[in-house]
Amino acid sequence: MGAIIMKKEGLRMKITVWNEFAHEKTDEAVKAIYPDGIHETVAAFLRENGFDVKTATLEMPEHGLTEEVLANTDVLFWWGHMRHGDVQDEIVERVYKRVMEGMGMVVLHSGHASKIFTKLMGTDSGLLKWRESGDKEILWVVDPGHPIVEGIGENIIIEHEETYGEHFIIPEPDELVLISWFSGGEVFRSGCCYKRGKGKIFYFRPGHESFPVYHDKKVQRLLCNAAKWAYTPAPQNILYGHYPVSILDQK
Ligand code: ZN
Repeated sequence: MGAIIMKKEGLRMKITVWNEFAHEKTDEAVKAIYPDGIHETVAAFLRENGFDVKTATLEMPEHGLTEEVLANTDVLFWWGHMRHGDVQDEIVERVYKRVMEGMGMVVLHSGHASKIFTKLMGTDSGLLKWRESGDKEILWVVDPGHPIVEGIGENIIIEHEETYGEHFIIPEPDELVLISWFSGGEVFRSGCCYKRGKGKIFYFRPGHESFPVYHDKKVQRLLCNAAKWAYTPAPQNILYGHYPVSILDQK
């Protein structure tokens, strides 16, 4: 019981932050914002908030997502962009299976086009409008009682970001928490909650690699909230399939 309460407080929840870790190696401007990679910046603020955090990247054996790592992950963060196609299908299946078993996921920004998010959505979630323009973005909270926006206030303002615009081909979110407005006129569903199997998934739009979005304190607070929301305590062992004896005779 104690452990579960601790986990709810975020003290012992195990998080793995996965990043393809490509732009930060080849683009000096991106490297200046995220010198150790986006994953290390995200991991650092999660650790500061009491989570037990590891990181994993594309170039590691099995992309750093071995059976053992995933078995010890309560919530998996995912950032990818230009190397979605290099993620092995076998690893995508492994992550998918863990979500079905109850692992949470927080999918960030261009992760909308990743193999795993597309599989979890069941739609062409890579399709949307975009401009790399440095527009202003205002993320408006549209579900003020939702735990993911606790302490956020009415909105998050990001002075410069890449734009995404509707239509975004996703299933209707189970819960829609944030909508973005951009100075160029676009709107976008930016904070979307889903349940798949026993697992919970949160999609969060901001985080283009050339803007310092994950250094923003409000964004950090929201992503800590999202990790807590996506955590599901170990589900009961459930028997599926042929069930030869009456449930009433089982006592
Ligand atoms: Zn981007």
